[in-house]
Amino acid sequence: TPVIGVLALQGDVREHLGALTEQGARAVPVRRPEELAAVDGLVLPGGESTTIVKLAARFGLLEPLRAAVQAGLPAYGSCAGMILLADRILDAPPDQETVGGLDVTVRRNAFGRQVDSFESEVDLGLDGGPLRAVFIRAPWVEKAGEGVEVLGRVVGGAADDRIVAVRQGNLVATSFHPELTGDRRVHALFVDIVRRHLAERAGADADDEKG
Ligand code: GLN
Repeated sequence: TPVIGVLALQGDVREHLGALTEQGARAVPVRRPEELAAVDGLVLPGGESTTIVKLAARFGLLEPLRAAVQAGLPAYGSCAGMILLADRILDAPPDQETVGGLDVTVRRNAFGRQVDSFESEVDLGLDGGPLRAVFIRAPWVEKAGEGVEVLGRVVGGAADDRIVAVRQGNLVATSFHPELTGDRRVHALFVDIVRRHLAERAGADADDEKG
């Protein structure tokens, strides 16, 4: 069973823990470097990215988070979590740091000029058709690097065609909050990424032993 942590400094931690448990993972809150070191994957929840990153720095977690993601730890960020995983951010306080890892430029509160919260259908190309996505003071991906796979875009309205879901290797990010709806397909996708990563690592370790 994969052990998947949820960064538990601020935000909708409980909802992610529940969604991951439903998908067969052992879900654990992560507040300390030792807890981070013990997980096979990590979810960065929705909440307030400015607060989460400040608390991460204060708890001595920011550098360990960066190192873990760079070392290939699978991570999924929803909303504020997407901001945390982005290499570059716009409309953020000038000193706002990120964990990074995702080669994207993310604009905070990007939809905010029109509306604070809304729901929309987003097609991620998953079995079962488009999903109902909940956006709350959400960011969007303004620019994605070459190695980034665009999983979903807004269709219609003022934000037509804006990128709201991406994947780069073991990193996934969504502008919206699948943890707040009953649709578990994004969490299922992430748990699957974690399982594959674990299996690959087990294979690599076995090869090492064969020498
Ligand atoms: N606006 C928040 C931020 O900048 C994100 C909102 C959310 O996670 N629902 O961190």
